[in-house]
Amino acid sequence: MLISREFNQAINVQIGREMEASLQYLSIAAYFEGRYLKKLAGLFFKQAEEENEHAMKFVKYILEAGGNLEIPALAAPKATFESAEDAVGLSLKWENDVTKYIYELVEITLKEKDYIGREFLSWFVSEQLEEVSSMDNLLGVLKQAGEKNLIMVEGYLSH
Ligand code: MG
Repeated sequence: MLISREFNQAINVQIGREMEASLQYLSIAAYFEGRYLKKLAGLFFKQAEEENEHAMKFVKYILEAGGNLEIPALAAPKATFESAEDAVGLSLKWENDVTKYIYELVEITLKEKDYIGREFLSWFVSEQLEEVSSMDNLLGVLKQAGEKNLIMVEGYLSH
């Protein structure tokens, strides 16, 4: 077995978080779809898929390392939003939080001198730079356009 009990449990918790993020992004995609904002909806449908892929990367790691998969209970996603800014602001907050959670996982591997685990987490560390930066950029664009000009954001996202 190449995974400690502590790291295994922490990954199980993270799998739940990635799945919750996937559901949250799905819910945000539906919100944009309901407002006829297809590009924004498409962007969040894609994000939802990516979060699911993140969860699967962790699942495969646990299984390959000989650990136990225990998926925690998932919280229901937020289903209603005040505005596009509200929905994307929530997403940016999530991406900042997940960066912190990934760092906590890295800390466990450093403490345990688990170099395989550390190497595995490198992909997630790099991914967070892209995730936080793209969500921050989207929020900035939404703020500049304003809630009444979201159709211009759709045009912007088409390029
Ligand atoms: Mg993720």
